[in-house]
Amino acid sequence: MSKIIATKAIRGAHSLVSRAENELKLAIANKGPETKVEFPNTGYFLPISHGILGLKIETLAGLQELLQEARNLLPPIPEKEKWLPFLGHTMDAGMAALFADEIIEAIKYTQNPLPYLTAANPDDSNLWLGAANDVIMRERGIEFVDGTAPGFAACVGYCPTNELAVKLARELQEKNLYVFMSAGADGKSMASQLREEGIQLGWDTRLVPFGDDVTATIHSLGFATRVALSFGGAQPGDFQRVLRYNKNRVFAFVLALGPVDDEKHAQAAGAINFGFPTISETDIDQILPSGICTYEHVVSPVSLDKIVAKAIEVRGLKLNITKVPIPVPYGPAFQGERIRKEDMYVELGGQERLGFEYLTTKELDEVEDGKIEVIGPEIDDIPSGSKIPIAIWVEVAGREMQTDFEPILERYIHDFINAANGVFHMGQRDINWIRIGKDTKDKGFKFRHFGSILHAKLHGEFGKIFDKVQIRIYTLEKDIKALIGKARKVYLKRDARLADMTDEAVDTFYSCALCQSFAPNHICIITPERSGLCGAYNWLDGKAAHKISPAGPNQPVKKGKVIDPNKGQWKDINTFVYNNTHKTLEIFNAYSIIEDPMTSCGCFECISCILPSTNGIMSVYRDYMGMTPVGMKFSTLAGTVGGGAQTPGFIGHSKQYISSKKFISAEGGAPRIVWMNRALKEELEPILREIGKSMGIDKYYESIADETVAVTEEEVLEFISQKKHHALSMPPLF
Ligand code: SF4
Repeated sequence: MSKIIATKAIRGAHSLVSRAENELKLAIANKGPETKVEFPNTGYFLPISHGILGLKIETLAGLQELLQEARNLLPPIPEKEKWLPFLGHTMDAGMAALFADEIIEAIKYTQNPLPYLTAANPDDSNLWLGAANDVIMRERGIEFVDGTAPGFAACVGYCPTNELAVKLARELQEKNLYVFMSAGADGKSMASQLREEGIQLGWDTRLVPFGDDVTATIHSLGFATRVALSFGGAQPGDFQRVLRYNKNRVFAFVLALGPVDDEKHAQAAGAINFGFPTISETDIDQILPSGICTYEHVVSPVSLDKIVAKAIEVRGLKLNITKVPIPVPYGPAFQGERIRKEDMYVELGGQERLGFEYLTTKELDEVEDGKIEVIGPEIDDIPSGSKIPIAIWVEVAGREMQTDFEPILERYIHDFINAANGVFHMGQRDINWIRIGKDTKDKGFKFRHFGSILHAKLHGEFGKIFDKVQIRIYTLEKDIKALIGKARKVYLKRDARLADMTDEAVDTFYSCALCQSFAPNHICIITPERSGLCGAYNWLDGKAAHKISPAGPNQPVKKGKVIDPNKGQWKDINTFVYNNTHKTLEIFNAYSIIEDPMTSCGCFECISCILPSTNGIMSVYRDYMGMTPVGMKFSTLAGTVGGGAQTPGFIGHSKQYISSKKFISAEGGAPRIVWMNRALKEELEPILREIGKSMGIDKYYESIADETVAVTEEEVLEFISQKKHHALSMPPLF
C-alpha cells in the first residue's frame, strides 16, 4: 500500500490524540476530574470505547484510560527511508483517531451551552445534532437490520456547489441510505450547503448533520457500534464481533468531499476497521487491494456524478429498488418530510374536507392493470394554495388475492405515497390528509402520479398475491360523497371481524421471526388478541405475510392442546417456540407478565413491568424520555428486557395489546395498570375508560398516575392510595 496515504493517516491520528490530550487536561483543570461525561439518553456510555474496549466511562477522569489506549495504539510516523507496507499500522492509527474523536466529542457534552441540539431534527437555533439518543438509534438501527435502509454514507467535507450537494443528497436518499454529515472545512459543510438550499434535515429525512468538527465523524461510527451491540448480539468489549457485524451487516461507506487533510485520512483509516471503505472526490492516494473491506479500501478520484454508484460497487451493496415512474425522487428517506403551509401547492382531505382511501378486490376481468384515472380537476386545473377533497380508490384482482389482505395492502398507501419527495401523507381510511409542495408541482407532479406510485409499489411488494391493479383518484366532492359511505361500511366490517376474533375462535396462530436477526432467541407468537410487540403485525398481517412469502418469517402454528387457558399456554405452541428459539425457551405464556412471559426483542412499542408495592404494573411508551417509577428510563429498561430474554415481571408489547381482553389477563388485566406516561395515557383514554366501564370500576382512568403526579414507586403508591385504585383491592401479584 502507499506510504503516502499511511503517513497521512498516522500523522492525522497523532494530531488528534495530541488535541484530545490537551483538551482533556484543560477540561479536568477547569471542571474537575469527577465531572460527568455522557452522550444524551443512552445506555451505551461512550459507544466506541464501550463497544470496542468494554469501558464504561462516566467522568472526565475516566477519559484518561481511553486516552492511554489511544496512545498505546499510535504507531510511529513512517520514516523516509524505512517503510514496511503494513495496513495494520494504518488501522491502529485509525482506531487511535476514533478514540481521540470520542474524547473530544465527550468533552463537548460538558460545555455550557451545549454545542449540539438534543433533538431528532435541527431547528433555526442549531444545525448540529451530535450523538443520537437510544430511542433514535433503536428506531433507525432496526432499519439496517430489516433492510429498510441498507446502510449509511458518512459524508465528510463539502461539495463544490450547493446544487451538487443537493443532487448528491437526493441520490443517496433515493437509494434508501442514511446520510451522516460532519467535518466541514473552509467555513462550509455538506449539511450547511443543504440548509442554504432549504432542504429539510434531520433523522426524519435521513439527512443527519452530526457536527462541523472532523471529530463529529465519530457519531457515525458510534451509531454503527450501538447497532452491533443492540441488534447484533455483540457484548461490550467484543471488538471482533462489533467490527465483523458492521462489515457484514451495515453497508456503510465514507464519501470524502473537498480537501482531504491528515485528520480526514485518519477518519478513513478508522472506518476501514469497520469494513467501511472511503471513496474520495479529491485525488488522494488509493488503497486498492482487498483485505479488511470487502473490496477496495480507498478509491479516488471519483467525480461527484459517479461517486454514489462507485461507493455502492466498492461496498458490495445490492440494492433492490422498484422504479417508480414519477418526476420527483422517491424512497423511504422522504417519508419523514413535512410540507409547511407556505410551501404547499395543494392540500387534499384533512380535517376540514372529505377524504378517504380504499382498496378492494375485483374479478380479474374487471381490472385493467395500470389503468389510472383522475375524475375531477387535475393539479394544473387548480390555483396554488387550494384545499380540496380527495378519494383514492384502488381495485386489485388476482387468483391469490383474498379480502383478508385488503386492509394490509390498503395500509401501505400511506407509506408508498409518503415516499415521494415533496409529498406528505398522513392518516388512513377516511382520515387521510395529503399535501403537495410547490416545488413538487413545478417538477411536474400530478394527482395521477398517486396512481403511478401505487401501481409500481403494490406490484413490487405484493405482486405475489395479485395480478392487476387499477386506481381512480376523485377530486370532486359530489363523487367522494357518493362513495365514502360504501368505504365506511367496509371499514366497520373489517374492524368487527378483527374485534370479534378471539384466540379461542382460531386453531392457528402466526409466528414472526423477523427480529431474530438481532435477537436470535426471540420469536413473536401473534394471536388475534395479541399483536406482535412492534405493533406492526397483527394476526391477519401474519396470515397475509405467510401467504405472500410461504417460507418467510411468518409461519402458521397450530395451537394444539390447551395447557392453561388463563395464562395462554398451548402444547404445540410450546413445542414450536422451543424449536424456534434454539431450544432456549421451553414454556411460554402469552397472557402473563410474571410466569414465563413472551420474550422481548428490542422493537416493542411499550414496556410494562410490575411495581411490587402497588400491587400493579406500569406501562411506558418508547418515546417517553423521562424517568419511570421503576427507577429506569425507557432506554435502560429496553436494555434489561430486550435481546430475546424471558424476563419475569417485564414484557415488551404493542400499544394495541393494552386494549385487548387478553392483556396480562393471568394477573387480572389492564386494571393492574397504576402508572403510564402521560402521552400514552391520554392517547388510550377512550379505551381505558371503556375498560373501566366494562369492569364496573369507578374512575379507573383518573386513578392511573402519570409523570406529572408521580415519578417514584412511593409517589405512585401514595397517589393510587388517595384515588383508591382498583389494583389495591386485587389479589396479591405474588
Ligand atoms: S416485534 Fe415481533 S412481530 Fe414485530 S417484527 Fe419483530 S418479531 Fe415480528
